[in-house]
Amino acid sequence: MDNLDLKKRELILYWRSAFNFSEDVFLAFVKVPRENFISPELRDLAYNDAPLPTSEHQTISQPTTVMMMLNFLDIRKDSKILEIGCGSGYNAALISVIAEKGRIVTCEIVESLAEKAKKNLVDYKNVEVIYGDGAQIAGEKGPFDRIIFTAAIPKVPEELFGLLNDGGIILAPVGELYLQEMTRVKKIGVKAGEGFTTEELGEFVFVPMRGEWGFK
Ligand code: SAH
Repeated sequence: MDNLDLKKRELILYWRSAFNFSEDVFLAFVKVPRENFISPELRDLAYNDAPLPTSEHQTISQPTTVMMMLNFLDIRKDSKILEIGCGSGYNAALISVIAEKGRIVTCEIVESLAEKAKKNLVDYKNVEVIYGDGAQIAGEKGPFDRIIFTAAIPKVPEELFGLLNDGGIILAPVGELYLQEMTRVKKIGVKAGEGFTTEELGEFVFVPMRGEWGFK
């Protein structure tokens, strides 16, 4: 077993002892090689529990954070999912494995990152990568069962409530520029505009969202 495999196993053992992640989420982590989504010179760090740089001052999130978010998102096998903030494509690959019968739209506002993510995700057939601002793409491609933000936003955009199917979930780091609360909004299936619950799931720090819904 090489060093990467050992470190990957160590992470899994740590999560098994400290977190109650679902088996689907564990299985996706086992299947998707994080080392394929980072630059080759960082390969040895692929399974350190740390964020890593992509390009353009953006990051691929820390594995524990990624796993917590996937668990919070409660993805079904047939979910239709929007990810805002594709970055390297790693998170989209994990989602693609969990929602094996679903569809994933993931968007990225930095063109060079979107192009790289398209290549990284070529074998994940249920994923569509789109270059552009998530604020536009959400309206064009919705409605969705799940919407996940991997960049920080000042508030959950109201336009999204109408783009969520009954039983749907929005998950986003919401708050100030340098500290956010992981926020989960659930639509509980009555008339649109009513029947939403909001939960706060702990403090995190994410890169800021740009574009229409970002920080002014
Ligand atoms: N999910 C990624 C990590 C994302 S980091 C991964 O697994 O690698 C957040 C990303 O959101 C950055 O790449 C940033 O460029 C992107 N982003 C910021 N604002 C955006 C917007 N308005 N629309 C789409 N992507 C955006």
